[in-house]
Amino acid sequence: MKLLDDDCKILIVGGGPVGMLTALELAKLGVKSRIISKHQRTSPHSKATIIWPRVLELLSRTGVSKEIISKGHYFDKMKYYSNKKEIGNIDFSKLNYTNYNYGIAIPQWKTEEIIESLLNQSGIYVEYGCQFVHGENVGEQVEVSLLSDNGNQENLTYDWVIGADGRSSKVRDCFGFGFDGFQMKTRLAITDTELISEATSREVGYYLHRTGNLVLAPIGDGLFRVGASVPDNYEGDIDREFFNNALAERVPGNKSLGKMNFCGTFDAHVRSASTYKIDNVILVGDAAHTMSPSGAQGMNSGVQDAINLAWKLAGVIKRDFRSSLLESYSPERKNSIDRISSLSTFLADVSLYKNRAAIFARDMSFRAASKSKAIDKYFAPRVAQLDIPMGDLSEGKLKLEPGRRIPLEWDTSAIGPYLNLSEHTIFLWPGDEYVYSTWASIFEQAKTSITHSHVVDLSGKVLGYLKDLLPKHPISLIVRPDGFISDIININMHSPEKSIQSINSKIAQ
Ligand SMILES: Cc1cc2nc3c(=O)[nH]c(=O)nc-3n(C[C@H](O)[C@H](O)[C@H](O)COP(=O)(O)OP(=O)(O)OC[C@H]3O[C@@H](n4cnc5c(N)ncnc54)[C@H](O)[C@@H]3O)c2cc1C
Repeated sequence: MKLLDDDCKILIVGGGPVGMLTALELAKLGVKSRIISKHQRTSPHSKATIIWPRVLELLSRTGVSKEIISKGHYFDKMKYYSNKKEIGNIDFSKLNYTNYNYGIAIPQWKTEEIIESLLNQSGIYVEYGCQFVHGENVGEQVEVSLLSDNGNQENLTYDWVIGADGRSSKVRDCFGFGFDGFQMKTRLAITDTELISEATSREVGYYLHRTGNLVLAPIGDGLFRVGASVPDNYEGDIDREFFNNALAERVPGNKSLGKMNFCGTFDAHVRSASTYKIDNVILVGDAAHTMSPSGAQGMNSGVQDAINLAWKLAGVIKRDFRSSLLESYSPERKNSIDRISSLSTFLADVSLYKNRAAIFARDMSFRAASKSKAIDKYFAPRVAQLDIPMGDLSEGKLKLEPGRRIPLEWDTSAIGPYLNLSEHTIFLWPGDEYVYSTWASIFEQAKTSITHSHVVDLSGKVLGYLKDLLPKHPISLIVRPDGFISDIININMHSPEKSIQSINSKIAQ
């Protein structure tokens, strides 16, 4: 797709995974951006190592998930232990209605390398050594000052500035977004390491113990991510000895560290900006929110920001959508972040119980939920971010309803129905039984009168995951480019004009 260049200016501040993905999504939708990064991308830290199923679905839009799957390490089980005894597991292989019933463990630097390579193929290059130092919203534009490592200062005006500059975001501070929340009491020590004689498997292990928690995840190339909470009164170094002691104390068997790639500690903050958009400045990723690392949702949530934002911004810039559409970005993302962040804080809290009665109650509940498979049915889809609806909808239900994800992808090679990248997809479903000639004429009318959308006839087609979800009666499903259902309209077979009118007015909104 030819990139729009001259008449619009977007500056993305931050060349982390979320900033680069925002630039890549925009490029895929035909909109060029400038992306700058204060630091080079040379961190040895593996940082975010797990990519969840919903995020694999979304990253398939730009070809990122295919690369992540080929370069990462597959896992489909999370086993939980308490006091070195197994108390249950979450089985992601039982996830329904997705092509990704597994997670991928991959160090963040590899994910960034994949996104950057695809971004470069779109003709966009991150300008390293260039930092945002100041900015101001002036009318419909944003004035910014940038400083390069060679001392060169630029004062420029952009139509849009996207703050993707991480947890200590200068953009967020400069434009007065606020960042309320708290710092978690417990520090997390992490290392990427070989483990002597440890078999690599398709499991991630969570080990809960009165002295703290520990996670062990295979991340490929024979390496494991070990993440261990640091006891509150611990004053020693975070080194090989610390991790070997934590393994001996919290994990069954005799595991010990081989070659270590790096180690360090991580202070977790649970914070969120008061809004993610002020005038023409928008926050994404850690600049907008940070959460407990328990649950490994931080970067995954940033990916969802990038995708929620990019189609709206691209559509507004190309004048396919009204600019008011962008006002939905902040409330929608804040709602999802609140849900995911609460889940992550809950996981951190329960994994650090010290009181014997609380530990007993937690372990009993986990055992029961694991045995009854309730955990696979209700908990796994939330952790996998498949079941994070918008607005007031409750989790735990998979149905066709505005505000829920539709279980479809963007892959044109799919046998079943698929979604359009940049436009709404309108699926027209004639119901279980229909008179062919009546339906054919309705579809033709709809196709000619519905504009700015991709209209798809579901009659007589392989329905993929929609098969069990569609009603007996005729409907039209309006699905946004990011895969959320925005409206469902019943089709009256006898007077379809009204239904088509409703579809058109919903799209215009
Ligand atoms: C040690 C550690 C372990 C972690 N473990 C996990 C985990 O297990 N699971 C998980 O989901 N998440 C984890 N995280 C969090 C995860 O790494 C972040 O969610 C993710 O990096 C967010 O990506 P981002 O692009 O929003 O920001 P970042 O990756 O922080 O990138 C910010 C970018 O902004 C640039 N920048 C900063 N200031 C400026 C400026 N003024 N001007 C221009 N550019 C600027 C930086 O150079 C960088 O390119 C971890 C983080 C750390 C530090």
